[in-house]
Amino acid sequence: MSMSAGRGGTERLVVIGGDAAGMSAASQARRLKGPGELEIVAFERGHFTSFSACGIPYWVGGDVPERDRLIARTPEEHRARGIDLRLRTEVTGIDVAGRRVRARDAASGDEYWTPYDKLVIATGARPVRPDLPGADAPGVHGVQTLDDGQALLDTLARARGRRAVVVGAGYIGVEMAEALINRGFEVTVVNRGREPMSTLDPDMGRMVHRAMEGLGITMVNDAEVTKLLTGGDGRVRAVVTQDAEYPADLVVLGIGVRPETSLARAAGLPVGAHGGLLTDLAMRVRGHEDIWAGGDCVEVLNLVSGQEQYVPLGTHANKHGQVIGTNAGGGYATFPGVVGTAVSKVCDLEIARTGLREKDARRVGLRFETVTVESTSRAGYYPGASPMTVKMLAERRTGRLLGVQIVGREGAAKRVDIAAVALTARMTVEQMTALDLGYAPPFSPVWDPVLVAARKAAAKVHRGAS
Ligand SMILES: Cc1cc2nc3c(=O)[nH]c(=O)nc-3n(C[C@H](O)[C@H](O)[C@H](O)COP(=O)(O)OP(=O)(O)OC[C@H]3O[C@@H](n4cnc5c(N)ncnc54)[C@H](O)[C@@H]3O)c2cc1C
Repeated sequence: MSMSAGRGGTERLVVIGGDAAGMSAASQARRLKGPGELEIVAFERGHFTSFSACGIPYWVGGDVPERDRLIARTPEEHRARGIDLRLRTEVTGIDVAGRRVRARDAASGDEYWTPYDKLVIATGARPVRPDLPGADAPGVHGVQTLDDGQALLDTLARARGRRAVVVGAGYIGVEMAEALINRGFEVTVVNRGREPMSTLDPDMGRMVHRAMEGLGITMVNDAEVTKLLTGGDGRVRAVVTQDAEYPADLVVLGIGVRPETSLARAAGLPVGAHGGLLTDLAMRVRGHEDIWAGGDCVEVLNLVSGQEQYVPLGTHANKHGQVIGTNAGGGYATFPGVVGTAVSKVCDLEIARTGLREKDARRVGLRFETVTVESTSRAGYYPGASPMTVKMLAERRTGRLLGVQIVGREGAAKRVDIAAVALTARMTVEQMTALDLGYAPPFSPVWDPVLVAARKAAAKVHRGAS
């Protein structure tokens, strides 16, 4: 029998990455097994643990007053729970055959091997930095880490002018546009796509576009950034696209992330078409009994399309960590997949989506009907009722719900959860029309906007079938 890797023959779990997925896994494994049964060593190259990147736009915008509110659990709290946490220590190699990882302590420069019995890879994602002149100039900011957030706040405080350019109009771009508006900047969003929020169909993205303009944000679509110009002091001064130049006292980049899988690839672990690690339902790296991976470094199964997808969201990272920790701690849990739910907002405009867009449905060969309905957030006569647009996709003939997108004000975002549940339960739009949703005038019209869309979609499916 081989010896276990930990002290005195105790099993050792090694975790790479100290944020949502990694520390959820470590904490859950610790709940199931005490330090006498399982040694847990977690490596984090940064100097924070378990922080909410999701909160950065609200901290930068001033809604959240201080950085530390975004830290769910500090390194000291993890250590007090019996996790041997090594901060500022980067894992530089995984030796799968030898069951050990190599790590470098940033402070001392020391490199050493640590053997493991069980390994968790939770290395997250790497933000895309454009390979363009000026992209690394002072005044150009990413918003991935708390240090990035602090650096941006420092720039905001020092900025000589009030012109900000956000590159990218995904949810991070639009959330950062709001943050900068709240800080009193004039904001231009430069976007490569046809409309902002490419996770929506363009017709719904168009509504976001109009609403952003209504908020005073200049929205530039179909624009490819070619370079960033710097001034005599070396700081960024403009963003240049193929046909225009946008003056900028600061620039925020929100052009997406890629799975951070360089270590895993070098170790020969399997990655998929989107560059994320491939796992089974228990979040075990395929073909490796004692290695798990979760969070932004993995691909997930989309339950509606039946295909692997890359969906880097904190909501999944936390669930993956829980599943991994349960399995690594000797229990049993699975992560069945996602339906593609995501919500965000820009000022008071809420944006929500779940399931498939038209192009996703087409790509996997599904035939479908679409409906778009205009309704209101509350009974029309109740004070504060605001317009809400719901788009719904249903499979032709079967009527199975395929996707929902909602744009509106108060109450629009979390309404999409109705559709997320319906997708998970593989309901038809006909079945949805009978859902017993709550109603009182302050919360919805007597027919909730989602039910109005389901009724219209059911009628269209019915007509299509006859
Ligand atoms: C501005 C912003 C807003 C967001 N808003 C939302 C939102 O509203 N809702 C939502 O669901 N999601 C949101 N997200 C996404 C969410 O933050 C991520 O999905 C989540 O943080 C992923 O967790 P993770 O543990 O997989 O990866 P990360 O949080 O990226 O953590 C990975 C950790 O691993 C460390 N690491 C990597 N390689 C090594 C190595 N070799 N050695 C040691 N350590 C290493 C990194 O330093 C990092 O701390 C947002 C993200 C950003 C940037």
